[in-house]
Amino acid sequence: MRKVDQLHPRLQSLIFDLKEKCQNQGLKIGIGECLRTVKEQEALYAKGRTVSGSVVTNAKGSAYASMHQWGVAFDFYRNDGRDTYENGDSFFQNVGKIGKSLGLEWGGDFKSIKDLPHFQLPDWGSTPAKLKAKYKTPENFFKTWEEMPMTEQERIKFNSLVKQVETLTLEKEKIYHYTSELPDWAKPTIQKLLDRGIYKGISESDLNLPETVMRVLVINDRAGIYK
Ligand SMILES: [Zn+2]
Repeated sequence: MRKVDQLHPRLQSLIFDLKEKCQNQGLKIGIGECLRTVKEQEALYAKGRTVSGSVVTNAKGSAYASMHQWGVAFDFYRNDGRDTYENGDSFFQNVGKIGKSLGLEWGGDFKSIKDLPHFQLPDWGSTPAKLKAKYKTPENFFKTWEEMPMTEQERIKFNSLVKQVETLTLEKEKIYHYTSELPDWAKPTIQKLLDRGIYKGISESDLNLPETVMRVLVINDRAGIYK
């Protein structure tokens, strides 16, 4: 089992979105198997064939037949304290729906072996046939990712920076709520616009007037626009 940061960069970013969207809807998910080696895939393929258990995959390891070996698939589990694969409440179908809305291909839609806790990027079809034809091995495919933008960590940092900038901008912009708060140089203009109904606050008592807007209104007034 490998880490999320070894997956295709776009898939990393989609996992970030998926976790957030699921969380917002009260579905707590964890990320399980991501990138898989040939050996790991062989062990899975043996299940229900040469070792006991039921068949879990049709993908042979040596043939790079699993999307997990190409770094474009991941599995999830429920992470809310209940059994990790408990699905009496259609938890996996609900997460599947959210993933699909983000553009992921969901294993629950597979024709042969349904794979409810599985998602993959849809860009190369449902199976690795196209990837194999184009890149031969996963290693060749991984090399093409280098020019890909933003890993999950970079994205988290980026989003937090955007938030900080938004907060700073909001803090900087003063909002005037009452006419009594207005600076003297703006009072006559704003009062006039209120009286004429040209400017309306969000209510009788609340101007909700941003400073930048107030400045523009005063400048316009001085230019004779509201005469
Ligand atoms: Zn899977």
